[in-house]
Amino acid sequence: MQKSKSVFVLCTGGTISMQKTAHGYAPASGYLQKAMVNIPELSNADMPSYVIHEYEKPIDSANMTPAHWVQIGKHILDNYDRHDGFLILHGTDTMAYTASALSFMLENLSKPVILTGSQLPLFETRSDARENLINAMLFASQYRIPEVCIYFNNKLFRGNRTKKMDANSFAAFASPNFPVLGKVATDVTIRHHLSRYASPDKIALQTINALAIGVLRIFPGISPALLRHFLQSPLQALVLETYGLGTAPEDPQFLDVIQQATTAGIVIVNCSQCPTAKVKMSQYAAGTALLNAGVISGGDMTTEAALTKLFYLFSKNLPLSDIKRFMMVDLRGELTA
Ligand code: ASP
Repeated sequence: MQKSKSVFVLCTGGTISMQKTAHGYAPASGYLQKAMVNIPELSNADMPSYVIHEYEKPIDSANMTPAHWVQIGKHILDNYDRHDGFLILHGTDTMAYTASALSFMLENLSKPVILTGSQLPLFETRSDARENLINAMLFASQYRIPEVCIYFNNKLFRGNRTKKMDANSFAAFASPNFPVLGKVATDVTIRHHLSRYASPDKIALQTINALAIGVLRIFPGISPALLRHFLQSPLQALVLETYGLGTAPEDPQFLDVIQQATTAGIVIVNCSQCPTAKVKMSQYAAGTALLNAGVISGGDMTTEAALTKLFYLFSKNLPLSDIKRFMMVDLRGELTA
């Protein structure tokens, strides 16, 4: 029977595609493609037809780089007109980064791009891979959710709101500052009112350049010298992971280092170490000091979203003033205004 919907599946690697080796689980080339043929549910009438493209050398997602994000984006762009949706099989460790990056890079998206993976390889008896694969395939084809999402353990999340929270439980991901977009139980519930609209414009891909952008988590006793070292050239931008609502030590030397960096044109974005938080620097004097030193607020963005958004905006070669402004504007649902 001719299927009405079609999905492009890109297998990048991750536990879902791994086999046992002498060194622990490692990606195995060609395995997933063969295994999927043996999942009968994937050929049910309500399932889409699909084509699989597997990385020649699938990777543990610990090895992901911005160059891989670009590669994934190009695969989506090249196959965009031929398919109704896109399923990216990916390791869980850096899935939130890739989902966040793709959400920015894919401009004018009008089709679903769903990332999934698993905590146990598909070949393991108790694996969560099968369920994730089947449901993610449905979300990539049957529902109109034209954004980059992560589907995992019965939940559909906005990709740029996710964090990997648990390395053992099947509930690996959470979206601490934004509700889930969909849930799978005996019924499938989708919160269409929360989902983004399909863009009427032509899809475009913003590629990502190799840039000196970093993340630094502050901690009690962090030395200004260490911070100075970190902020040295060629650093262009930094996500500073602060406490609570965006506070940091009020040590004048520490603040002086920050001030010098922002004056020199380094964009410093304040994101909280608390997974559930919205930075409000003016709430405490220990936050206002950062504001006065030129730090900009990351609001309730995850570090993953803030970091990849910086990569995206710098890759567009925008003036610094625009980059700073856009960091505080909601571009893809990553930020609560
Ligand atoms: N290390 C694996 C990866 O990220 C973990 C996983 O897929 O769950 O590729």
